[in-house]
Amino acid sequence: MLSDLDLLAPDAILGLSAAFRADPRENKIDLGVGVFRTPDNQTPVMKAVKRAQTQIVDNESTKSYLPPEGAPGFGDAIVNLLLSEKHPAVKDARALAVQTPGGCGALRIGGELLKRAGANKVYVGEPTWANHKPLLSAAGLEVIALPFYNKENCVIDFDDFMSGVEKLEADDVLLLHGCCHNPTGADLTREQIDTIFDAAEKQNFVVFIDTAYHGFGEGLDNDAYMVREAARRLPSTLISYSCSKNFGLYRERAGALIAVGESADHTKALISHMTSLARGMYSMPPGHGGLIVSSILQDIDLSAMWRSELSDMREAVIGNRELLVKTAQEMQLGDELDFITRQRGMFSMLPVTKEQTEIFRDKHGVYMTGNGRINMCGVNTGNVEALVAAYKDVVL
Ligand code: PMP
Repeated sequence: MLSDLDLLAPDAILGLSAAFRADPRENKIDLGVGVFRTPDNQTPVMKAVKRAQTQIVDNESTKSYLPPEGAPGFGDAIVNLLLSEKHPAVKDARALAVQTPGGCGALRIGGELLKRAGANKVYVGEPTWANHKPLLSAAGLEVIALPFYNKENCVIDFDDFMSGVEKLEADDVLLLHGCCHNPTGADLTREQIDTIFDAAEKQNFVVFIDTAYHGFGEGLDNDAYMVREAARRLPSTLISYSCSKNFGLYRERAGALIAVGESADHTKALISHMTSLARGMYSMPPGHGGLIVSSILQDIDLSAMWRSELSDMREAVIGNRELLVKTAQEMQLGDELDFITRQRGMFSMLPVTKEQTEIFRDKHGVYMTGNGRINMCGVNTGNVEALVAAYKDVVL
């Protein structure tokens, strides 16, 4: 039976990184994999993380199991960071979190919870992050695409999206990106978010919000508008949270699934299902990343240090957006790439075909995913002119 399994093609994004590493050209440009990088192509450990982990290692007295909901204080710290202590759902104890192995773990447990509650279909705007479909369909949900982004004009096609959303029924789920949309960088406006939640209230579908880049768009508070509104207006909602990008903890697999229920008791019930689902998959989350996050968020100095480092990362990415657009204007591209400064987070999506992304790679050594997604961290003063020249050659 096991011998019936054939070799699978490598994961597209991981395959892209391997191809980049193997490329001998010195002027190659990596706009592929979705991690933060400095201009010298490093993904450093944040200083606040280094400090917290040194303290943890020095003071650690046991490696015994964590409780099913994760590191002590982790869930409350994440809920307070994302929703704020003043939020009515937090004050009423209607918002609680369990620690998960990264945002992926949260998405999978959230999918399983929705399936257990009776959902069968989850709707996602197209395009979406490549791993949403595998994670949610592994939970037994049918993943259905709704039109979301107009790739030619580089804007959200909100009317088309809403025509799809208006067809959702009470047992359906709508997956939204909390901020810094991956792969397009095109975020919904506050008005558009309000319109979606009007529909959710009227039609009674469940909103599941994936927040993987909190703090990378317009700062921690502004980036939380969607989740705070969902937790304020909707009877219940689920939020998956990743600490991979904003704490730079990628390989430590730290994330959270937040349940906002109709009452404190309802939320406790949701949490009990989440921990029972986790028990059937990985039992409990890994300790190190969650302990680092909870130590940082519970310490005033470390927390201030982390906020300032996160703010530097955000500014760096915004700076790269501005640099690319300014260089494109200087190199006579007109307003062709102006949309990039209107977008948020690590990514934007170039209006190119899969074949064009291959020409970018083969002819110019510019690596991006096949859908034209570019990681803005890969743009810097040393390569931006070559990148714009490649764009002119391939696209215009
Ligand atoms: N959601 C989105 C949109 C993402 O881009 C990512 C990471 N690439 C995740 C969730 C999950 O992140 P992780 O499991 O690494 O925390």
